[in-house]
Amino acid sequence: MDKINTVADIIRQSEKIVIFTGAGISTESGIPDFRSPGGIWDQYDPNELTYQKFLSSQASREKYWERQKTLWPIIAAAMPNAGHRAISELHKMGKLDCIITQDGDSLHQKSGIPDEMVIELHGTWTRALCLGCGRKYPSEEIQVRLEAGEKVPLCEECGGIMKPDVIQFGQALPEKETGEAQRRAAGCDLLMACGSSLVVYPAAQMPLLAKDNGAKLVIINLMPTTHDRYADVVINEKLGQTLTEIIKQVKAKSKDRG
Ligand code: ZN
Repeated sequence: MDKINTVADIIRQSEKIVIFTGAGISTESGIPDFRSPGGIWDQYDPNELTYQKFLSSQASREKYWERQKTLWPIIAAAMPNAGHRAISELHKMGKLDCIITQDGDSLHQKSGIPDEMVIELHGTWTRALCLGCGRKYPSEEIQVRLEAGEKVPLCEECGGIMKPDVIQFGQALPEKETGEAQRRAAGCDLLMACGSSLVVYPAAQMPLLAKDNGAKLVIINLMPTTHDRYADVVINEKLGQTLTEIIKQVKAKSKDRG
């Protein structure tokens, strides 16, 4: 396919690649997308699970933790798919600057990307945070307490309210991560947006920051996005297969030309 070839050429010419990933990459590992209708999320009304409601209502906290109890085993068992593995190949080639992700499932880290190279814009499901003292707990530890019957686990240190360390609807994005992501997007020579509809801020902003600073832009997503007109290449196909093909081409071309 011509587009695969073009992207492979762009990658060969790039030295500082930023990969931006959204829920679309994780669905291929069996992690359901919150925004898609159907499946296990339908029983949870997002309007009942906002950050504001979480802080003010015990019932909302119970519901939120009930969802976490269902979600955690799925995330803990999920494995990186072909898309994650292809991206980790870019890291092995020394071309990857960082990954900016909207996913909090740690699948990039599981595929071999060092923690410090993954900017988690929406936080992570892998730990819980005490809103009182800031202490962090591994999610598997909290899961044991949930399964033992605790409805709303409280901090062992200060008795404070805890929540999964992931950005909730109605909650501001982490300033440090957002700023770092903007800086890296503006400083790369290629930004590849993978599996994100690029609608919500600041996801929507990253491709434009890259483009405005002279980088190439590649968008791979099952559905068209509002940013397609700015992209050098747009591929509306499944991620795992597409990224695998691209990396195969990059390697073949490198071999051809020594
Ligand atoms: Zn605490």
